[in-house]
Amino acid sequence: MRHTYARIDLNALTYNLTLLKAYSPSSRVVAVVKADSYGHGAIQVARHIEDDVDMFAVAFIDEALDLREAGISKPILILQGPHQAHELKLTFSENLHWMVHNRAQLAWLGELKERSSLGAHLWLKFDTGMHRLGFPIEDFEKIIAENTSVINRHSVIATHLACADEPNNSHAATQISSFLDKAKAHGFALSIANSAGAIEHKDAKQDYNRIGITLYGSSPFPSDYKLPRLPELPSELSKTMSSDKQNNSITRPTLKPAMTLVAKVVAIRHIPKGDTVGYGATWQAQRQTTIATVSIGYADGYPRHAPSGTPAYCKGQRIKLVGRVSMDMLTFDVTDHSNIDLFDEVELWGEHVSVNEVAEHVGTIGYELMTRISSRVKRKYQGVMTNERSE
Ligand SMILES: *Cc1c(COP(=O)(O)O)cnc(C)c1O
Repeated sequence: MRHTYARIDLNALTYNLTLLKAYSPSSRVVAVVKADSYGHGAIQVARHIEDDVDMFAVAFIDEALDLREAGISKPILILQGPHQAHELKLTFSENLHWMVHNRAQLAWLGELKERSSLGAHLWLKFDTGMHRLGFPIEDFEKIIAENTSVINRHSVIATHLACADEPNNSHAATQISSFLDKAKAHGFALSIANSAGAIEHKDAKQDYNRIGITLYGSSPFPSDYKLPRLPELPSELSKTMSSDKQNNSITRPTLKPAMTLVAKVVAIRHIPKGDTVGYGATWQAQRQTTIATVSIGYADGYPRHAPSGTPAYCKGQRIKLVGRVSMDMLTFDVTDHSNIDLFDEVELWGEHVSVNEVAEHVGTIGYELMTRISSRVKRKYQGVMTNERSE
């Protein structure tokens, strides 16, 4: 077997959840497990954290039914709402909650026999500036008034922030205040925050936080790959949480990355100065160079556009990618790391090289890198499986 894995540390998920809850003690947690839990494996993740969250969220119904088949029983919020009217028939039997964002979906709800009990399964999404999904926030009163046959006091009113991950951008504050101006007075439960909102914007923390990327231990702030911008640690937690001392007075916590992507060195070669490495001969050795070839490539989801210089980690040292990424292999310059040898394990990202740092080299975000790890890469789970079922 090829030694190429995404190691998933389940304990890191629990750790991150505990930390995130401490920062939003009065918000309920909607754990976002769409896209196979950002590449971590939705079923294993959901089983592990089910007792610690209030509900789960996925993008569309197929993802929810996979979780149900695996025995997950907490409510599941479908972030895109129903794509077809008949999906709504499963609302009660599968305990689904719908983020409804357009009039067609409202009409489908209105046709359902059980519509008077739908309110508690209904989230209404309002557009406050993202301009992707949702009813215009200006129409708030109108939408509520026109749909009292389905919306009731148990329904949740939600919006989504466009720029929560840019701390100095006022866009989020504008969205939050236009949302609260309209929605606050009516007594509905509210939901604004994603991970970035819950960290960066106090007013975004309402009744439900929709938490994705920070659950998996990555910062939602793309260039902030060492320390997620969490405020000072609540003192009761500072004893149990690992943290980086910024200075003597302020302790800021760090999230634990749950995914470590690893592969092995399958060849070592020494090439003379002037020779080139890889397809297209794009990288040329400026000196006598030792090249380590590692068994993972773009067919595994490692980005083909990763340029020479993209970091990885091996035996306590950072090493640099050279030459083009191939379908099944990568090449690294290990000239200055004489202890690196055949069959050594290389971390492509994880604890020592954060996925955001790799993403920055590639020109993308950690979310994309993690969700694109292909099915060819086995997920290996570490940590206690709390809800493990015997099958
Ligand atoms: C994916 C998603 C989230 C989670 O976002 P993170 O940045 O990963 O925390 C929250 N809300 C909606 C509507 C989403 O689509």
